[in-house]
Amino acid sequence: MLFLVLVSLPACRDAATDDVVATARPHASSRQNLPKVVLFVIDGPRYSETFGDTAHTYIPHLWNDLRPLGTLLTDFRNEGTTSTNPGHTSIVTGTWQTIANDGSEWPDKPTIFEYYRKHTGAPQQDSYVIPGKDKLKVCAYSTHAEYGTDYGATASVGHVSDVAVYDALLSVLANQKPTVVLVSLSDVDEAGHSGVWSSYVAAITGADSLVWKTWNYLQQDSFYADQTYLFITNDHGRHDDAHGGFQNHGDGCEGCRHLTFLVLGPDVKADHTSDSRFMQRDICRTAAQILDIPAPYAEGIIMQEIFESPPTGIKTKAPQ
Ligand SMILES: [Zn+2]
Ligand SMILES: [Zn+2]
Repeated sequence: MLFLVLVSLPACRDAATDDVVATARPHASSRQNLPKVVLFVIDGPRYSETFGDTAHTYIPHLWNDLRPLGTLLTDFRNEGTTSTNPGHTSIVTGTWQTIANDGSEWPDKPTIFEYYRKHTGAPQQDSYVIPGKDKLKVCAYSTHAEYGTDYGATASVGHVSDVAVYDALLSVLANQKPTVVLVSLSDVDEAGHSGVWSSYVAAITGADSLVWKTWNYLQQDSFYADQTYLFITNDHGRHDDAHGGFQNHGDGCEGCRHLTFLVLGPDVKADHTSDSRFMQRDICRTAAQILDIPAPYAEGIIMQEIFESPPTGIKTKAPQ
């Protein structure tokens, strides 16, 4: 089945040599039963409107459907710069990135995509960045001398709505079968900046629906079912009411630092909630552990507490 799917994609490989096609197929099929990672970022809700709301008014699927399947961390934090590009690149590099927030500056430490591709030799279509903001193209690769563009992710850029990001994500998952994906929904942040509360909370509920649909898609695709780790988190929160309220963000107040974190996957503890403190920069090394790849410049820790047992990891070499 997988063979047929890949062979049905020659349109995008017309220019490829037979050699490339011959190496791409065994590589993709070798990933069939190995771990995958989807980093699902909802840009900029406050914790007080997600898991910090005891009624969970705006996140019915995250609370009722997804939380029982995974591990919820209630003290997960951005202790770096609480704006969009620094937050996203801190997630993918495992280091606190203080880069410009306008898309003009790339991270200086390698991303999870570069670690994955350099270690495994995977082609570019095995890793994807699918954001709702053009400026997040900087998540695809770093300026690090040992890594960089040669090992970057495919970036699907465009300033688009959450529904359009979701549609792009499903198309990529169905057709390209990437192993490592960052997807980012922007509507919550943009609605928050508008200052209209009803739009802001409606966007949170919209994102809640799309992450639930994403999980359901993953579980009915044999390439992803029962072998995909879905991390659901944020780049930053928004000001708490004592520091300006929900419209903006970017300082060190508790509202800006406190993030959503829920993770689901084969070795992840189900129906588990922990108040242990973890950081946004811990995601990269944890994802690298799942993929069984080194992440030598990442500074976070591996979040062992989320796992039932150490994950078995990806096998990057054929048996000798
Ligand atoms: Zn943001
Ligand atoms: Zn703040």
